[in-house]
Amino acid sequence: MSAGQPTSEFQHDDVVELAPLLRRVIAARVHDRHVVEDLVQETLTRVMATRRRLEPRTLAPYAVVTARNLTRSLAASEQRSKRHAHRLIDLREPVLPEEAALRREESQAIAAALGRLPQQDQEALVAHELEGTDTATLAVSRNSSPGAVAAQLSRARARLRVEYLLELEQAEPPTARCRPVLLALSAGDRRRQRDLDAGGHLLDCAWCARLSEPLLDRRRSAAVAGEVRIPIQADADVVTARKQGRELAAQAGFSATELTIIATAISEIARNIVMFANRGEILVSLVGENRRQGVTVVARDSGPGIPDLDRAVQDGYSGYGGMGLGLPGSRRLMDEFEITSEVDKGTTVTMTKWRRDA
Ligand SMILES: [Zn+2]
Repeated sequence: MSAGQPTSEFQHDDVVELAPLLRRVIAARVHDRHVVEDLVQETLTRVMATRRRLEPRTLAPYAVVTARNLTRSLAASEQRSKRHAHRLIDLREPVLPEEAALRREESQAIAAALGRLPQQDQEALVAHELEGTDTATLAVSRNSSPGAVAAQLSRARARLRVEYLLELEQAEPPTARCRPVLLALSAGDRRRQRDLDAGGHLLDCAWCARLSEPLLDRRRSAAVAGEVRIPIQADADVVTARKQGRELAAQAGFSATELTIIATAISEIARNIVMFANRGEILVSLVGENRRQGVTVVARDSGPGIPDLDRAVQDGYSGYGGMGLGLPGSRRLMDEFEITSEVDKGTTVTMTKWRRDA
């Protein structure tokens, strides 16, 4: 397989079948075919990441809506809703200093949203998310079971996410069906989505189409100049890493072909993390040396490690049944490649690509 043909990121046929439709939706708005492909891939991974939370008839409408949203937010220089979205994952997450104003707005919105929840949900969230009380302890103090407390927390978070977004909108939903639909999406309650025809509503209601994205797509990302750090945990993160890595490398003036090569190498090592280590992170940085410019990618995980490194980086070796290029592929694509691994401790891959000047 040549470097110009990114390997398939997906195994789920029903999601992959959406690709041509999405390509049409996106190509109508974007002309750069690399960007179209990035958006298609990203839409697909987002849909895949959320498919278990969506009932089947909601899948295609949600995919179309996601593609539109992604295209729009890419066009907007300020991706405000995205930055809000990552705050929804973890109320304690630190934010960058320059985001102080945003943080104030966010904490006010969180406080207001919390205030709209039933008393019991408020108490559970505050105890668990802010005070760090674990579910077992909460269960004892409530004469309940850890499972029931976890379920209550999950419902409360789903509700909090909806109320938080409504608070930021500073407006009531346009229809009576909006809030229940958003709640069903936020909670991943597929039966409720079916009962409400959430898919139909998403296509009809621009308001819910916009708000559903941060509700269903809850990833975190933070950017520093000349550097991107992407937590890797799910398939969706693989595409995010690839896209953000490619965008950063573009700042160093790489050619389109080189950018594809870099993006492919990044997605290969990111997929490696998802498949073998469950979680890790990828750090992409612009580097300079002796008047040449390049990009360095560091992928770290705390997974099981690789016992036989020599074998793992040999051509033809693939730990996952021939899918993708794996580590040997990444090594071939980049100029420098270094891997260290310790069994039961984790693996670090460091690779660099230098710009070729014509
Ligand atoms: Zn609506």
